[in-house]
Amino acid sequence: MAIILDGKVVSQKVKDALKTRAAKLAENGNPAALAVIIVGDNPASRVYVNGKKRDCEEIGIITEEYALPADATEAEVLELVNKLNNRADMSGILVQLPLPAHINEEKIINAISPDKDVDAFHPTNVGKIMIGNYDFLPCTPAGVMAMLDAYDIPVDGKECVVIGRSNIVGKPQAMLLLHKNGTVTICHSRTKNLAEVTRRADIVVVAIGKAEFLTGDMIKPGAVVIDVGMNKNVDGKLVGDVNFAECEPIAAAITPVPGGVGLMTRAILMENTIIAAEKANNA
Ligand code: NAP
Repeated sequence: MAIILDGKVVSQKVKDALKTRAAKLAENGNPAALAVIIVGDNPASRVYVNGKKRDCEEIGIITEEYALPADATEAEVLELVNKLNNRADMSGILVQLPLPAHINEEKIINAISPDKDVDAFHPTNVGKIMIGNYDFLPCTPAGVMAMLDAYDIPVDGKECVVIGRSNIVGKPQAMLLLHKNGTVTICHSRTKNLAEVTRRADIVVVAIGKAEFLTGDMIKPGAVVIDVGMNKNVDGKLVGDVNFAECEPIAAAITPVPGGVGLMTRAILMENTIIAAEKANNA
C-alpha cells in the first residue's frame, strides 16, 4: 500500500501561507494582482481560467480577466501584453495556452515582461532555472518538488526518471530534480527499452499525456510515482499517465489523478504571483 501524496492537503497549506503574504501586500497599499488573458472559447481553457480566478479570490489576489474573441489578432494580444507590462499595479500576466493557431505563442510569451512571467515560460526565466538562480519556477515541476518536500521524500542521490521532455513540464522537472542532487534520466518517445529505464527509478515522474501509460511492471517496488498527466479515458473520466490501480500496490508513494499534481500547479501559480508582487514592491 502506497502513501497517497495528497495534492488537496499540500496545496491548501501552500495557499494558506500565501494568504498572510497577500494580506501584508494589501495592507501596504500594493495588493498582488494577476492579469489573465484568454483568447477564444476553448472549454478546457475556460475551466482552467475559472479555477485560477477562484484561487486568486481565496488568497486575496486581484484578478483581471481579458477574454478576447477567437479571431483576435496577434497584434492585439501583443498590444494588451505591452499595456499590462507597463502597469505598476499589475504583478503578474498569464496568457492561457493554447492560443488559436494564427497566433504565434512564442512571440506572445517572449513579449511578457520576465518580472511578470508567473508561468516562468519566458526564455529569461528558463535560463535562470537552468543556472539555478531564479525568481519563478514553472508551476507544475515546482508543484511536484513541493509535494516531494511536503512528504519528506529525499531526492539527493536518488535515481530519478522523468518521462516527457516538454518545455513546460519534462525539461524543467529534470532540472529541478538535478538541482536537488538527483541522478536524472529524461525519457521521451524515442527512448529505447523504456521499462528497463523506469524500473531503475527511485522517483519516476510521468508527463506524456497518454492515459494510464505507466503500468505496474514498469516500476520497481518502493518507487515514488508522480503522475502529471491529465487525460480523459474511454469513459470520459479524468485519468493520469499512470495506471494507478497497478502501480499503487507496488509503489511506496503515489500521486492520484485528480487530487495530485494539478492542485499543486495551481498553488504554485499563486505563489509566483505573490513573489512577483513582493519583488515589485521590495517587500
Ligand atoms: P507534451 O508537450 O505533449 O509532451 C509530451 C512528451 O511526452 C513529449 O516529450 C513526448 O516525447 C513524450 N511522449 C509521448 N509519448 C511517449 C511515449 N509513448 N513514451 C515516452 N515518451 C512519450 O505534453 P506536456 O505539455 O508536457 O503534458 C504532458 C501531460 O501532462 C498531459 O497529459 C498534460 O495534460 C499534463 N499536464 C498536467 C499539468 C498539471 O498541472 N497536472 C500541467 C501541464 C501538463 P517526444 O518529445 O519525443 O515527442
